[in-house]
Amino acid sequence: MVRFWGVRGSIACPGPGTMRYGGNTSCVEVRCGGQLFIFDGGSGLRLLGNELMKGGPREFDLFYTHTHLDHCHGLPFFAPCYDARNRIRVWAGHLKPDAGIEAVLGKMMSPPLFPIPMDIFTAKLEFNDFSAGESLVTHPGVMLRTGLLNHPNRATGYRLEHDGKAVAYITDTEHEPGRLDPNVLQLVNGVDAMIYDSTYTDDEFPAHKNWGHSTWQEAVRLANAAQVKTLVLFHHDPDHDDAFMDRVAAEAAQARPGTIVAHEGLVLRL
Ligand SMILES: [Zn+2]
Ligand SMILES: [Zn+2]
Repeated sequence: MVRFWGVRGSIACPGPGTMRYGGNTSCVEVRCGGQLFIFDGGSGLRLLGNELMKGGPREFDLFYTHTHLDHCHGLPFFAPCYDARNRIRVWAGHLKPDAGIEAVLGKMMSPPLFPIPMDIFTAKLEFNDFSAGESLVTHPGVMLRTGLLNHPNRATGYRLEHDGKAVAYITDTEHEPGRLDPNVLQLVNGVDAMIYDSTYTDDEFPAHKNWGHSTWQEAVRLANAAQVKTLVLFHHDPDHDDAFMDRVAAEAAQARPGTIVAHEGLVLRL
């Protein structure tokens, strides 16, 4: 089961124009093998946390693609961090060897940018840094493959496999026109669901070179080449309102039938 708590990139953008697709930034919940895996902790993480406080698992894993603010600023507002019964394993693959995830999140939660330091958390947090490209087995029967993405300050793509099913979470990443990224192809090969950074359209892309993002058309090209079952467009530009996203959805469904534009609250069962 995959549930989307935040589907937006760059900055949260609530308002009447984004009511249907949602305004919260990246956060995706995956449940498999009796475990909870969280991918990214953008503003959508707050909502997931409130849900978990109603009786969710006390032990789970939080994987960061990277630490740009839209992917980690939900942490101080994640209620499970303030409950001593919880044990949260935090993972990142983009910081070694120069830095570590604990220190980077600590920097975000330090005055005068934020009033309280991470010491305020009463949950047991365990921080793990790995190098994108490594495979992780955090629970028996669940395989997590990772790969380096093309993004300023680096980012990690993930492929989670369990019980013959696979889902790939690929954000944020920029493609090189005319050349499918081999790291991405490897991660998404044959997956049941590919969640992909579709910030721009191909028309918008040239004006945003080196901003570290991709397009929904590139998502289609990758999904076709890698024989992906269901393509899920993700990390929407905050300036793309519901009407714009409806147009993307219609064009994408024509280009690749079955393509889904992620919206807040979307649940996929693989
Ligand atoms: Zn982002
Ligand atoms: Zn980023």
